[in-house]
Amino acid sequence: MPKNIRLRFAPSPTGWLHIGSLRTVLFNYLITKSLGGALILRIEDTDQKREVAGAVEKLIDILDWLGIKFDEGPHIAGEFGPYTQSQRLEIYKKYSDELLAAGKAYRCFCAGERLDDMRQRQQAQKLPPRYDRTCRDLPETEIERKLDAGEKFVIRQKMPLEGEIIVHDELRGQIKFMAADLDDQVLIKSNGIPTYQFASVVDDHLMQISHVLRGDEWLSSFPKNILLYQAFGWEPPKFIHLPLILNKGGGKLSKRQGDVAVEDFRAKGYLPEALLNFVALQGWHPKDDQEVMTMEEMIEKFRIENLGISPAVFDIEKLDYFNGWYIRHKTVEELTKLCLPFLAEAGIIEEFSIFNFQFSMKFKNKKTGKEINFEYIKKVIALEQERLKKLSDIGEATRFFFEDKFEYEPELLIWKKMDMAQVKNNLEEIHRALEKIPAGSWTNDSIEDALMAHIQARGGKVGEYLWPMRAALTGRQASPGPFDVAEVLGKEGSLNRVRLAADKLE
Ligand code: GLU
Repeated sequence: MPKNIRLRFAPSPTGWLHIGSLRTVLFNYLITKSLGGALILRIEDTDQKREVAGAVEKLIDILDWLGIKFDEGPHIAGEFGPYTQSQRLEIYKKYSDELLAAGKAYRCFCAGERLDDMRQRQQAQKLPPRYDRTCRDLPETEIERKLDAGEKFVIRQKMPLEGEIIVHDELRGQIKFMAADLDDQVLIKSNGIPTYQFASVVDDHLMQISHVLRGDEWLSSFPKNILLYQAFGWEPPKFIHLPLILNKGGGKLSKRQGDVAVEDFRAKGYLPEALLNFVALQGWHPKDDQEVMTMEEMIEKFRIENLGISPAVFDIEKLDYFNGWYIRHKTVEELTKLCLPFLAEAGIIEEFSIFNFQFSMKFKNKKTGKEINFEYIKKVIALEQERLKKLSDIGEATRFFFEDKFEYEPELLIWKKMDMAQVKNNLEEIHRALEKIPAGSWTNDSIEDALMAHIQARGGKVGEYLWPMRAALTGRQASPGPFDVAEVLGKEGSLNRVRLAADKLE
């Protein structure tokens, strides 16, 4: 009977999500959705040196933000729980006892020092570290004696001593391993806690997992997993090992080389859609080579056979490209809401809470204390939408819209070879021309019409008017165009800035 489609994402709760794990969970999700199955979140917390406070909550929060939904997990009831390995110790004991009773595993009493000595000797002889199997065939009486004496032990699996182990990966086909290269793997440690290898196989079986999709750093464990399935007489799931994600230099992605934590990308203002789209293409591409894809499109196009086995390269510029694309395709309203926390972080608006926002739609300018309404912020954001790469850039890009007075050198107002007197004169002229536009028809078009007519009538050069005007309005070398900025600033705000600039020049 064909198995139901059931996949799992099985992270250790480290407190943050690695970008490689994001890809793993996404592909698990895509397979589940495209084949119509269930996705399980399983917390593998038995191998951890120390507990990280709140790690599981953080993990659930970031996965939720990404829009990856689970069907079963520690936060959702399900018939295969508990879904946290530290709550399943009794289960692992039962199954390791079963292997002991069947003679497929044994208690190993070799203490740490003996193993350390052995390892050092092996290292000196350039041999791979390997347990010498001293306890593999201890007589029953000896075992009883040691147990009575309260000696500590680990449980190891009796691995085959010779021959080949042939395993099957869905992407790589058959892979051969030599039994002689495999250690008698530890299943249960001396503190009664299972190893990752043991717990994950037992859980995958009991949770009826149909496909295991994980990073290829687990390829070397693959024969050990299969031997465990054989020892139990269980049918293994299908295995898919994803290639590594490398940095541009060809090395491993590491925390030191910049961000690898999805939480850091979130804090920088990357959108979940962009991150998902970006990681989806790290090792997979749809048959039609479409690049920008919504989750629905990815689900529709996803086929396991289109996964690749050559390493993927992490290219941050590509991620920026996707982020810019998704930013441009938001409605201004959506984008503005997304930008609010970043404006608060940049010290432009006062800290706000979503709760207050829903009631008031009004904000306070952190510097001036004046009220700013949502419509104003929306107009500002609309001007930046085209250029914005990440939400965290919004503060610097738009600060000038929120400050009444700002510092800049008078030289900024000069276009090419103009002298100061001419700049001052042109700003005065602009001021007079702008003053004549009725406040009720203050739009970028009417501002443009009025100014262009004025420049033409004066026989002036466009740059000699519009550059000083734009610089006066923004205080910046680069910004959106002067008519757009003037419209958003409003008549009074624009006139003030032009006046301040003219007054700067003697
Ligand atoms: N707990 C393992 C990890 O942290 C899971 C590996 C697997 O998917 O089997 O990566």
